[in-house]
Amino acid sequence: MNLETLLHQTFGFAEFRANQEAVCRAATDGRDVLLVMPTGAGKSLCYQLPAIARGGTALVISPLIALMDDQATKLTAAGLRVGRIHSGLSRDEARQACRDYLDGTLQFLFIAPERMRVPNFPEMLARRKPSLIAIDEAHCISAWGHDFRPDYRTLGDFLPALRPAPVIALTATATPTVQRDIITQLKLTQPELFIHGFRRHNLAIEVVELSKPRRNEFTANLLKEKSNRPAIVYAPSRKSAEELASSLGGSAAAYHAGLDPATRERVQRHFLTGRLEVVVATIAFGMGIDKADVRTVVHTALPGSVEQYYQEIGRAGRDGQPSRTVLLHSFADRKMHDFFLERDYPAITDLTRVAALLSDDYQMPDLLRQRLKMDAETFDKAVEKLIAQGAANIDMAGNVRAAEDAPRSAAWRKGYDDQINFRRSQIDRMVQFAESAQCRMAALIQHFGDTADGLRPCGHCDFCAPQNATAQTFRPPTTEEDRQL
Ligand code: ADP
Ligand code: MG
Ligand code: ZN
Repeated sequence: MNLETLLHQTFGFAEFRANQEAVCRAATDGRDVLLVMPTGAGKSLCYQLPAIARGGTALVISPLIALMDDQATKLTAAGLRVGRIHSGLSRDEARQACRDYLDGTLQFLFIAPERMRVPNFPEMLARRKPSLIAIDEAHCISAWGHDFRPDYRTLGDFLPALRPAPVIALTATATPTVQRDIITQLKLTQPELFIHGFRRHNLAIEVVELSKPRRNEFTANLLKEKSNRPAIVYAPSRKSAEELASSLGGSAAAYHAGLDPATRERVQRHFLTGRLEVVVATIAFGMGIDKADVRTVVHTALPGSVEQYYQEIGRAGRDGQPSRTVLLHSFADRKMHDFFLERDYPAITDLTRVAALLSDDYQMPDLLRQRLKMDAETFDKAVEKLIAQGAANIDMAGNVRAAEDAPRSAAWRKGYDDQINFRRSQIDRMVQFAESAQCRMAALIQHFGDTADGLRPCGHCDFCAPQNATAQTFRPPTTEEDRQL
């Protein structure tokens, strides 16, 4: 059946969005694909339609139960046969899904990446080969970046046994470096790259150099204007989020990971219904929030990467109406990030000292720590990092052991160094973006490596249209002294 007919009949959509058709064609024809499009652009369709067109069962690997359930529900509602295997389901349900898979009655099987570590599971999959393999949120495979999932890293080892199905890797956030990493790790064969859709026509992006003490006043002034609300403000710490929220008053609230779930849920709900007009959040806010009419996104400090920045400003103007984003920064932000970097990446010598004591059996951390004569904080950070990197496992009782590839090798150490350097380069790129004199939108598109765009000036960022910038109406002078603050 023709792809367009499938689009109408199965999904009920009138037409393909930009680029979807080309991606669907490549995957349907059996080619490997790396697809990089922003959140909300419609990536799921780009594996789902080819899966149906090719027949058989598509294997979908997804890192979050919520994402899996969301897609499974939608596909089931569209009349498709879907199975799921994740830790939130009973053993019986999982077993049933395996049986259905082997019987060939499923069109989609969703699994979590850690499932591949369950003995005999990869062999079970290989017994009846999938017709297509989709790897959602594929950036999780790259040790570079925030969402790194050790379980994703081994996926590349299992894929050859499941071939010749085409593999389609999807992500919203991958720089050219991470794109190359995904291709190498998954061993994609001559993949077609689709990197598209990063231009947002209705966003006026503005960057303002401003000393730290003046940023709250700037933000308050900006958000006083009715037309600039609803707004999301991103603050660099819980404390600064609380402070700004309370200084903004009644229709503003803070949102961060330190609040209890009930409060977080209430803030989200009130923001969605309009009872709250401003949310001052740390990066914990926004996942799964679909509020279409956000008029302004403010950053009161420099984000740690252009990818993160792009994701966050992307929450403005989902309804297509003109919206603005304002980034406040100064020289001092750089120092803040250097501090974060040191905090997030314990010294490799501490890691290797701890790793050297880990064995294949679980041990009590306190005993290890005493043998090392290490202070508790250093030790805990080192253990936490080893676990996050997939080099150690922890059990329910808090005991730790070495995972398969403990950091004894030079390659592991190099990988760790590479990560730190990558983080540092992300900060550099963010600083460069803030300080560069060119169209902001064009700079962002260029950053993601979309070569098809043409990079036309957007016409409404602070470079293209300085006369429209909010900083024109409120710009406390920034002196050389301020920059040090
Ligand atoms: P992404 O994974 O890129 O963040 P999704 O695949 O979840 O985005 O799609 C976002 C929304 O767009 C979904 O509600 C989906 O149904 C819708 N969508 C996708 N393609 C089309 C299309 N061609 N026409 C209309 N709606 C679409
Ligand atoms: Mg998606
Ligand atoms: Zn511009």
